[in-house]
Amino acid sequence: MKPIRLMIHGGSGRMGRALTRISAADASLQVVAVVSRSPMAELSQGLWLAPEALADAPPFDVAIDFSLPSGIANLLAVCRARGVALVSGTTGLSDADHAKLDAAASDIPLLWAANFSIGVTVLRRLVERAAAALPQWDVDIVELHHQRKLDAPSGTALVLGAAVDAGGGKPPTYHSLRAGDAVGEHSIQFSGSGERLELIHRAYDRDVFARGALFAARWLAEQNKGKHRLEDAVQAIVRSG
Ligand code: NAD
Repeated sequence: MKPIRLMIHGGSGRMGRALTRISAADASLQVVAVVSRSPMAELSQGLWLAPEALADAPPFDVAIDFSLPSGIANLLAVCRARGVALVSGTTGLSDADHAKLDAAASDIPLLWAANFSIGVTVLRRLVERAAAALPQWDVDIVELHHQRKLDAPSGTALVLGAAVDAGGGKPPTYHSLRAGDAVGEHSIQFSGSGERLELIHRAYDRDVFARGALFAARWLAEQNKGKHRLEDAVQAIVRSG
């Protein structure tokens, strides 16, 4: 079978490097272009592109984006013009950016997720159920990330907050900690009188997110245009073991 051709957007970043390294070891994937603001001398000749040159990228099947919100409009324009799928994990997007993603999904298969780990995908459902069972309890969402993370609260914390809301819980209070090189921890605390229920997810290695995004890319390459949910791809991951 022909490998899926990938364009990695945000290639020089922490996530971009994990994606490039893991893809290189996987015969079902072929990275044909890597876009970042700073040149990447370690890549083979012709693979790196500046964001301004994205329209000149060679043909690709799926774009994987872990960059910054400033790059999203240009990326969407190129994916829509080519009719190729987009997996995005970029957080800190505005409501207007999310509206642009929704609009693009009328032309291309698109999957955005604030967190590509399997554990957080399951945690969302648990949080919604806990919130439904504990509508009067106080809710606190505590998140810890490395010092260079730009957005706060994290995209994952906001998604978990939306799950609290969907379950009918009290509006959560967010607490963001930035320390050391923490990859990402989220604790959702439901506090009642004399007791507290806590649901925690800890990511120890950002390869977890990269592997999830690459699995989503393989899955999305076979989907029709439209906005897709990571939950649906995860069902396929769980089924495939
Ligand atoms: P980083 O700062 O290490 O890397 C950012 C990358 O984006 C760099 O390669 C940079 O050159 C590139 N970039 C910046 N502006 C750009 C533009 N306008 N056009 C094209 N490329 C541009 O960041 P990171 O730690 O790799 O994280 C990237 C994003 O992914 C963040 O939003 C982060 O919160 C998010 N993230 C999501 C998940 C998830 O599972 N969804 C997991 C980890 C990180």
